[in-house]
Amino acid sequence: MSKKPSKISDDELLNQCIKENQQCFHTSCSNSIKLIGLKCHLCTKVFCPSHLQPEVHGCGLAARKDAAKDAPKPVSNEKKAAELEKKMNKKLQQMKNDRKKKGK
Ligand SMILES: [Zn+2]
Ligand SMILES: [Zn+2]
Repeated sequence: MSKKPSKISDDELLNQCIKENQQCFHTSCSNSIKLIGLKCHLCTKVFCPSHLQPEVHGCGLAARKDAAKDAPKPVSNEKKAAELEKKMNKKLQQMKNDRKKKGK
């Protein structure tokens, strides 16, 4: 058995991995993160400082999902508004009825 010469050696593969890891993970960025590499807490990939923010490197959806969890539901507000409208309508109708009774 003989080794295939076309196969990439482990050393080469390792070098490629290291090279990738030393660059910002943003697709259109070639900034080196050799000195300053920051890990995104959402995707755990390493970015340069200018691409660390989730919105910048495409983690926006995940970030919004996270924010949606804590954000209050707008439905409750709609419900409140509808209830207020109902109460107001009831009051208005009562006033109308009262006037009718008084008028006759
Ligand atoms: Zn991310
Ligand atoms: Zn970058």
